[in-house]
Amino acid sequence: MGKLIDENGIRLDGRKLDELRPVKIEVGVIKNADGSAYIEFGQNKIAAAVYGPREAHPKHISLSDKAIIRCRYHMSPFSTEERKPPQPTRREIEISLVLRRAMECAIFLEEYPRSIIDVYVEVLQSDGGSRCASITAVSAALADSGISMRDLIVGCAVGKADDQIILDLSDKEDKEGQCDMPVAYMPNLDKITLLQFDGVFTEEEFKKAIDLAIVGNKKVYEILKKALTEKYFKTGEEK
Ligand code: ADP
Repeated sequence: MGKLIDENGIRLDGRKLDELRPVKIEVGVIKNADGSAYIEFGQNKIAAAVYGPREAHPKHISLSDKAIIRCRYHMSPFSTEERKPPQPTRREIEISLVLRRAMECAIFLEEYPRSIIDVYVEVLQSDGGSRCASITAVSAALADSGISMRDLIVGCAVGKADDQIILDLSDKEDKEGQCDMPVAYMPNLDKITLLQFDGVFTEEEFKKAIDLAIVGNKKVYEILKKALTEKYFKTGEEK
């Protein structure tokens, strides 16, 4: 019997190997933003806000043929078990960068020359897999803002614990398991826009993990689509 998975293939939180944590997405939650979303992914609670596209200032940071994206991923000091220092950590700088790169694949940047799109991610509570939950929230916020995109992006991690491939690692599985591989995915284009990796997989395990990540991401996509549709109908009723 493993430490994180029992003999029936059940994980510590009662999930099967290929089961996501409960996911809840709400779109349009921040009045002052051009687009916003809130996601609960297991115990992760994350808000994303998009401002722009607007004229880039100072001008020298702008590009004449496309928009630039500025992204800040921030964990609130009370989001982790031990109080996190409020200044940006190396991890937050890294996640801000990988989120920006993932978004650059999806947005039609050339439609917004000389402008800037600001993306803010605030992690209120974190529970492992926060970068994946963040990219899903950001994509919902971008869609809410009306920015032209090739596709939505969804995120979900896969990994290995007790020698088994598992979907959507919890914080404990992330820290005590053997492998963690966050994957962000554009479901209609069938393209991966973010892939990071920490641990060791055999070639066969890697293939199995990628397939499972795509299955998981497609499930997240269904939830995201539903959240966006709900916002659309709600807005319709309010008119
Ligand atoms: P991700 O959240 O994308 O899985 P990591 O693998 O780097 O990113 O982190 C895993 C988890 O570790 C986070 O979701 C969070 O719960 C926890 N964590 C991250 N940074 C800190 C920190 N400074 N203090 C305590 N816990 C942290």
